[in-house]
Amino acid sequence: MRTESSDKKRNNAEPEGGFCEEIVRRSGDNFRRCLHCQCCGSGCPVVDAMKYRPNGVIRLVQLGFRREALESSDIWLCMGCNTCSTECPMAVDIAAVMSALRETAVEEGARIAEPGILNFHKEVLNSIKRYGRTHKLEIMMRHKLRQLELFSDIDIGLKMLSKRKLDLRPSKIRNISAVQKLFPGLTGGKE
Ligand code: SF4
Ligand code: SF4
Repeated sequence: MRTESSDKKRNNAEPEGGFCEEIVRRSGDNFRRCLHCQCCGSGCPVVDAMKYRPNGVIRLVQLGFRREALESSDIWLCMGCNTCSTECPMAVDIAAVMSALRETAVEEGARIAEPGILNFHKEVLNSIKRYGRTHKLEIMMRHKLRQLELFSDIDIGLKMLSKRKLDLRPSKIRNISAVQKLFPGLTGGKE
């Protein structure tokens, strides 16, 4: 929810005290122990597309550069594969830090650097809300529709269909209400 104080934080281009503590709390990982050895970037599959690299994002947060961190593409490019954590001599949970930054960015209404990726996340969650599991074909079609790119990757989609890698119809788990309780505010999963 946006408040006067969150707007102030969002517009603050100066380093902000307390930001690091906030993300430490939210991620559940005390990444202040990071040595900046940069081992985490060596195996990261998306490091070449990143501006700051994984340890650079950590550094931004440590130094209190709220806007730079929350509005960075890097936090959306991270796919949470945890390769970085297995390389890290200090066992920093970078995926959890990235996730905490994404949550904070959405909550504060920060400028989302990769709106297509956020939309994809939403479609995955909506599918879980509706069926208790993911229906990949529907997720892809809804995502492509939102992005106005209905025919991009169609060759891959057809290939997957022909190899029966995509179910045409969704299947719902038995106790769907138990899953839906995890998503308060659910109104049919159409958001
Ligand atoms: S590998 Fe770990 S300690 Fe090294 S820079 Fe990355 S997060 Fe920091
Ligand atoms: S969890 Fe994110 S930052 Fe770490 S290796 Fe995977 S994609 Fe890169």
